[in-house]
Amino acid sequence: MKAVAMPTVSRVAVCGGTHGNELAGIYLVREMLKKRADGTEPVSVVTVMSNPRAAQLCVRYVETDLNRCFTRAALSAPVSETSPYEMIRSQELNALLGAQRSVDLLCDLHNTTANTGLCLITYSDRDWICLHICKHLQREMASTPVRYVHFDIPLNEAYSLDSVGKHGFAMEIGPQPHGVVRSVIFSAMQEGVQLMMDWICQFNSGTLFEGGWVDVYTMVKNIDYPRDSETHMISAAVHPDLQDRDFCLLHPGDPMFLCFSGETLRYRGKEALYPFFINEGAYYEKGVALSLARKRRVQIPSVRSETLR
Ligand SMILES: [Zn+2]
Repeated sequence: MKAVAMPTVSRVAVCGGTHGNELAGIYLVREMLKKRADGTEPVSVVTVMSNPRAAQLCVRYVETDLNRCFTRAALSAPVSETSPYEMIRSQELNALLGAQRSVDLLCDLHNTTANTGLCLITYSDRDWICLHICKHLQREMASTPVRYVHFDIPLNEAYSLDSVGKHGFAMEIGPQPHGVVRSVIFSAMQEGVQLMMDWICQFNSGTLFEGGWVDVYTMVKNIDYPRDSETHMISAAVHPDLQDRDFCLLHPGDPMFLCFSGETLRYRGKEALYPFFINEGAYYEKGVALSLARKRRVQIPSVRSETLR
């Protein structure tokens, strides 16, 4: 494959606290905000506390999930003082980071209670910048598994903050309970952000990054908890054989749920798929016990910035 020349990544946004109880990103952003730019940085970085009210209260959101408020419809909806706080805040963030002044790369920091390691979650399986950053993290991070997760929905239906940048991803790291910061998770996030910045600086200065292959996990579907047909309350928990086994292949017939009555329910799909976000604490309200993904290898070209041409 021929090397692809791409525009430099000059304006970067690092956002935390989009969910106000995901503490690694909140504390990392607070650390970054302490270090004032002195104008000598090779890349302009804007650091943002996305949902300060929720972070103050240490809740996921105040009125509605901010990270579902970045659809085109939500961003263009008329808002007033009585609109949900997050609807107003998403439009403020879009004005700051998206719209006409779109940042080149938006990294939004998240935590999950699931045992995912570090995931870059994107809407594209052919964004060479995001894929190269993922490859760089995979090469450099010895103690944390790094994976690329692709939500295959059209960009105009994208709902999350990272979608307002020209390139963007959620950097999702787990396992960490919400409302808690664990040092191993914090350090992994700090290292991930630093490695991302290192890659961007090298890319902007003309380094050629060799192509290769990256495993891409494309989300196929969500699975809800089994529910009582009358009360709709959940009637089972994730099976112990599946708990914490994010990104371990789930085969048809494998145990999936253990009912409160003692019965084991098995995966009934025809295709072996990769489970992730297993038993994520914030998704009980969304009716999601886990998500399933298909893995494939994507070939990525060598890239370099356009500046040296
Ligand atoms: Zn989150």
